[in-house]
Amino acid sequence: MNRRDFLRATLGVAIVGGCAPEVLAQVARIPPASKPGNYDHFIRDYLYKIRNFDAHHQEDVCLDQAQFRLLKSCVARFERLQRTVGHGNFYLLSFDEAIKISSNYPRVGRFTKEELVFLEMIFYSDAAHYGFLGEKPLQNLTARIQRRKVVKVPYTGNYLYKGLPLETYKKVRRDLGREVILTSGIRSVIKQFLLFLNKAYKHDGNLSLASRSLAPPGYSYHGIGDFDVGQVGLGADNFTQRFTTTRVYRKLTDLGYIKIRYVKDNMLGVRFEPWHVKVSPKA
Ligand SMILES: [Zn+2]
Repeated sequence: MNRRDFLRATLGVAIVGGCAPEVLAQVARIPPASKPGNYDHFIRDYLYKIRNFDAHHQEDVCLDQAQFRLLKSCVARFERLQRTVGHGNFYLLSFDEAIKISSNYPRVGRFTKEELVFLEMIFYSDAAHYGFLGEKPLQNLTARIQRRKVVKVPYTGNYLYKGLPLETYKKVRRDLGREVILTSGIRSVIKQFLLFLNKAYKHDGNLSLASRSLAPPGYSYHGIGDFDVGQVGLGADNFTQRFTTTRVYRKLTDLGYIKIRYVKDNMLGVRFEPWHVKVSPKA
């Protein structure tokens, strides 16, 4: 058994039935969408979950208590690291750079051995195990973003890859004008770790729930070219269904060249994300 198989097996065993009692109590209050039995039931159940993406569901996979403690310390360390290097740099930071900088800055602090094993487990475990069914464009934990291949987009704090992603965004700006804004561009494995783990942390270590809104690290197409757009002035609501009521969304759907990565009722285990533009070359 190689290291990766070992980690996968460890995670597989450890997370089964790991929901905290208070989470299970919450689950009990949610009526099951259907009884198991046939394919129709399965589909109805599946759609119920991705439409109620932020709720705990009966079969959700959760971390156990020991793993939850590691989740908490990793999130805190990533947040200290993000404050130290700045949000812009954090979008591009590789895993190796994160380890090195954390060791050099006492206010961040060195990742413990247990934290590193935990992060490897999260990265190399099969996300289908907890419900995320999309592809994994970044297979390597230490994948790097080459700085010469990216540009910072003015007034957004975000980066895009040169070539198709940048050209697509420019075209959208030309067609929709100044009311459309880039809300999220390139995300390193590290940035995706923070987003995904933070979501799981806020929901009692529920990996299934987290993955219905945020691709696990390695599985996000933000790593290779996708980006999110929003309506200027809508703020954080650009990442909610309210976005579908905006002029930007209406105009976006009229552009023949724009495709949405996570369409309504997709079979990837992910909620509807009308703001997430699919442009990556590998798509
Ligand atoms: Zn997105």
